[in-house]
Amino acid sequence: MEIEVININCPNCGVLFCIAKGHKDQLKDTGDTFYCPNGHSQIFGNSSQMEIKKLKKSLKYDQEYQQRLRDSVTGLEYQNRALKGHQTRLKNKLNQL
Ligand SMILES: [Zn+2]
Repeated sequence: MEIEVININCPNCGVLFCIAKGHKDQLKDTGDTFYCPNGHSQIFGNSSQMEIKKLKKSLKYDQEYQQRLRDSVTGLEYQNRALKGHQTRLKNKLNQL
């Protein structure tokens, strides 16, 4: 059985090492850390999984922010209604004078 390998140069120490192409694809997808033979940790940047995680986190933050804005608007609408009621009662009292 023949295994396709990929050559990698460690950016820290410059050592040349090989990993199986399948392993490289997996590391790229998961964004998991791997090590050169001298123990320097590295990852393949911009993996699709990392990008998905980042976008999901951003989407969740946006949704929470929208919910807070909706809650705030609802609170202001209640306040507005209460003030209008108060204003109407004051106008009625003035008209009775
Ligand atoms: Zn290294």
